[in-house]
Amino acid sequence: ESALELENLSLWYGDKQALKEITLRVPKNRITALIGPSGCGKSTLLRSLNRMNELIDGCRTEGDIRLNQRSILAGSQDLAALRRRVGMVFQRPNPFPKTIYENVVYGLRLQGVRDRRVLDEAVERALRAAALWSEVRDNLWQNALTLSSGQQQRLVIARAIAIEPEVLLLDEPTSALDPISTLVIEELMSTLKQHFTLILVTHNMQQAARVSDYTAFMHQGCVVEFGETDELFTTP
Ligand code: ADP
Ligand code: ADP
Repeated sequence: ESALELENLSLWYGDKQALKEITLRVPKNRITALIGPSGCGKSTLLRSLNRMNELIDGCRTEGDIRLNQRSILAGSQDLAALRRRVGMVFQRPNPFPKTIYENVVYGLRLQGVRDRRVLDEAVERALRAAALWSEVRDNLWQNALTLSSGQQQRLVIARAIAIEPEVLLLDEPTSALDPISTLVIEELMSTLKQHFTLILVTHNMQQAARVSDYTAFMHQGCVVEFGETDELFTTP
């Protein structure tokens, strides 16, 4: 079953075409890695999935993207609603300069959740799912910026999954981290796929081979190969 379906997706920045008729099915509850050389369009593809590209002047899209069977491009979709369906994690951990607790409940507060018990439960659930709970449970009122960068990245993941998005986009989530924190996040991604669909942009082939179930190779704006990671990375 597919969580995301891209149909002949093309994207231009002015007259430069960055994505070329991409057709792709992203399987549900799996990790799909996007890999390819710098400038091939990985970030552009990721950012088109939550329509962040639209903020860029002269950016134009053709084709369609369906998230769980619903087109996210057609008509005047509510962008705030789309952001709730699509979580995003960037290369540099970017927690808000607020308490750990307030970071995790951020999206829920935007949705109008007020009940303190509901928020408390969501905080514990998200922090456990992000493998951070035991490290921060006694410090939920501490400023998030006091955490290590590996912990900050897990906190950002907790913030993203607290509102239970339909897909979680990760744009080189470990490339600013030390090797140990990287392994922790890689292990975490593998457990998260039980509940979420993950798309991982990485320039690290070994990481794609270690953690992803499916891999899409991109080159000059095209997906030139897509398949099960085990098969693509096996040398015959
Ligand atoms: P990758 O993530 O694979 O390194 P990008 O998606 O960042 O690739 O870039 C794809 C292509 O689009 C590149 O040629 C890049 O120069 C171009 N590009 C990216 N962002 C912009 C932008 N805001 N304006 C114009 N061109 C851009
Ligand atoms: P606690 O161990 O107090 O329940 P944690 O947030 O450390 O809280 O972990 C939550 C659950 O996830 C635990 O069952 C733990 O064994 C497991 N876990 C811890 N770290 C990871 C990880 N990196 N990847 C996957 N699961 C993990």
